[in-house]
Amino acid sequence: MAILKSERFLQCESPACSRQRRSWRAWLDPVRGLSLDGHWYCSPGCFEQALAFAIGQSLPGTAQPAPVHRVPLGLLMLSRGLVDNEQLKKALKAQKDSGSGRVGEWLRHIGAVSEEQVTQMLGLQWSIPVFPINQSRQYLECANLIPFPLLELAEMLPVHHIRSSQTLYMAFVDRINYTALYSVEKMLACHTEPCLALQSQVIQALKELRSRHHPVQVPDDGISDPSEMANTILTHAVRLGAADVRVSGFGGLIWARILTTSGYTDILFHAHSIRPEILLPLESTQ
Ligand SMILES: [Zn+2]
Repeated sequence: MAILKSERFLQCESPACSRQRRSWRAWLDPVRGLSLDGHWYCSPGCFEQALAFAIGQSLPGTAQPAPVHRVPLGLLMLSRGLVDNEQLKKALKAQKDSGSGRVGEWLRHIGAVSEEQVTQMLGLQWSIPVFPINQSRQYLECANLIPFPLLELAEMLPVHHIRSSQTLYMAFVDRINYTALYSVEKMLACHTEPCLALQSQVIQALKELRSRHHPVQVPDDGISDPSEMANTILTHAVRLGAADVRVSGFGGLIWARILTTSGYTDILFHAHSIRPEILLPLESTQ
């Protein structure tokens, strides 16, 4: 376990900790601890408890940000003269009859608009830029920052990374997944900016990355609840000599990142199928 520099002034963040007072005098009796999301815990027990709570907060079913109301895409296209009343009615009827798909997809399906036009209008609807993935292949480097299964799950792609300001541009296809965006921001300790990209380009990029992403190790043991996940993470954190552990999740995946002085190791848990995937350690590229 890592000993933090200013340990003598640290106080365990666990409200249930029995050693809280003592840790203020840690310089007399050095206490080793573990850090979760930058908060210090005096013992594996306190750390594990806080970790299980944080995992519980990231499981499906916990409150997600409410969607922000936007001008409907069909109306936006109508007002810009991209489609006429008839085309919009036809697309809306097809959407209603099928009970699936988004209006932009149906407008494309009936040949009223192109993929580029739909994406441009979505950019206007969300007031965010459209990133030309076909003109920049920086995603090949950026993608290593985030475990591939998470990119695939949210159909998102880190497309541009500005190291000096620690800003990461994340491209989405038809809607911004703010939960995923927040998760990335927290786990990478960076600032994220959402943008849109053509679905065909994102799918192509993900396909390319699928064959390149680093190998995934899947241990045999099943994991069934937050405390078991916390225990697995703790075991790895101790073994690796973690300097900090971060935990987050979205869409039914729990993502833990164990940071050490030389890099990091990611662990993913499927909240439903409940089988952890330990991603091999990477040299930190942040
Ligand atoms: Zn404690």
